This record gives sequence, structure tokens and C-alpha cells, in this order.
Amino acid sequence: VARIALNPARAPALAIDLGGTQIRAAVIDGGGKIINREAMPTPAAEGPTAVIAALVETGMRAKGKMTISGVGLASPGPLNTRTRIALGLPTIKGFDDFALGETLDAHFGQTVRVENDAIAAAIGEWRFGAGRGCDDLVYITVSTGIGGGVIAGGRALRGRSGMAGHLGHMAIEQNGEACLCGRKGCWEAYASGYAIARRTGRTAADVFKAARAGEAAALAHAAAEARYLGIGIVSLLHAFDPERIIIGGGIADAFDLLHDGITATITTDAMPAFRDVPVVKAENAGNSGLLGAAALVFDQSLRPD
Ligand SMILES: [Zn+2]
Repeated sequence: VARIALNPARAPALAIDLGGTQIRAAVIDGGGKIINREAMPTPAAEGPTAVIAALVETGMRAKGKMTISGVGLASPGPLNTRTRIALGLPTIKGFDDFALGETLDAHFGQTVRVENDAIAAAIGEWRFGAGRGCDDLVYITVSTGIGGGVIAGGRALRGRSGMAGHLGHMAIEQNGEACLCGRKGCWEAYASGYAIARRTGRTAADVFKAARAGEAAALAHAAAEARYLGIGIVSLLHAFDPERIIIGGGIADAFDLLHDGITATITTDAMPAFRDVPVVKAENAGNSGLLGAAALVFDQSLRPD
């Protein structure tokens, strides 16, 4: 696979990560170093005009007087990254058939590179984190929901419209728990942060804090979570034959509590040829998506459009 070397000496990129609760922006150099970072709450209930204005303001604050080589955006989906049209973002109101790319181009005076957030995070970990040097990996982000991004054969797997990797919505149970997508039995409905909350009546953070303090019930909840994560990960091993599985998102804070349980499930459930694949923690925590958005600016071969 041809690679364009990233050159830390060239002008940095402006990367923006549009989240349901926060907009983050950073100026990032070619080596993946964050030079300046800004954040603002997302006016998620106020509609696209307010959200775009906040996004542009956050970006401009991060940029300051610096010269940049381009702008990259990590956005929640569903977002067709070939047409750069948002197709109804569940977490942010009013982005139905919204021409996100064109709108941002007009504000920034250049073509903004747009990517689904979990694919961007996968690219960020691949180029600048736990997936460096690894051309086949699966990245999962586990927070309120579960998202994912797959790097296969040295390329981000995007599918027909750039929306591949909705790994949280593979079903693990027929007629199972209700998922926020409207279907039943999705992996996300068992292994996400909201699934932990539904199962335990406590936040995931509370459960893991109590588990660290040795509380028996919390330790059992953590073990159940590791088992559910492991069940989905085994399917990902079988589907994608990766060299590594990378876990990001809020749950990564509890990675040390979950790792052994996940590995145990892989050992019992995966076909023998898939059992040696390491499961590792994302290296860039909350910045994986920003780093991926920057990588799209630096490396044309990574772009979806
Ligand atoms: Zn679902």
C-alpha cells in the first residue's frame, strides 16, 4: 500500500470533532502533536445554524493566527462522506439531509475533509496511536453507545456511502434488549455505557469506581460487561481477521478492569486461529477523532471523497 509520509515540518491541520455534547477543535502538526486545543458546548437543540456557528468559532479560536494546511472534521453519523451530506444525526437536532460539507467549505473558504467520527478515531489510532504500523485493525469506541472503525489492508473500510463500521448494531440476541436504533438485541444494547446503566441502575463510572474499591456487586457488573464486550469482539475477530483490537471511548478508563474478562471470552469463544489477537487500549483517549481528522488533511489517500 502506497503511503504519503507525514511531514512534521509542513503547516499543521485544523481538526474539529463535533460531538453531541461538546465541539472540540485542535491545531495538529504532521507528527500528531496537538499544538492548541479548544472546546465549546454543542448547542445540540438549537439547530444547524447555531451548531455550525459554534463549530466555526471553536475552530477559529483553536487556529488563532496560525497558518494551516487544511481543515478536517469528525462528525457523528449517519453521514454520507462521499456526498458529505448528514442523514439525520440522532444526537444533534436538525441535521436531516443537511449539506454539512458544502456549508463548512463556505465558512472556512476551502474544502473541509469530513469523516464519520468513529472511522476518524480509527484512523487517528492507526496513524498516531495504538494501531501504528498495523494495516488491519478494528477500533471500537464504547461510551453511551458503541461505534467502530475498521482498517483493512491499509485502508479505512467505508462501504457504499462511508458509513461502514456501525459495529454496535450487530445483533447478539434475537428479541433481546431494545437498542436506541429501534432494533432489539444489538451489541450496543448490552455492552455500552447506557446498557450498564440500565442493567445496574448506576452510571458506568460509578460501577467501575466501586469495582476498584472491591465492591462485590460492582465487580460482578464489571465481569458481565467484559463478557458482553468479549462476545462482540469475538465476532469482529471472525469477521475482519485484524492484527489488533483497539478500545476507545469512555469505557477505556476501565480497560484494566475489563481486559482479562474480554481475553477470557476470546479464549473460550473464538476459533483457535483467532485467539492470539491482542486487545489494547486506545492511546489518544479523547483525541483520537481529532487526530484522524488531521490525518485526512495530511494524507490524500485516506480521504473518502
Ligand atoms: Zn442498534
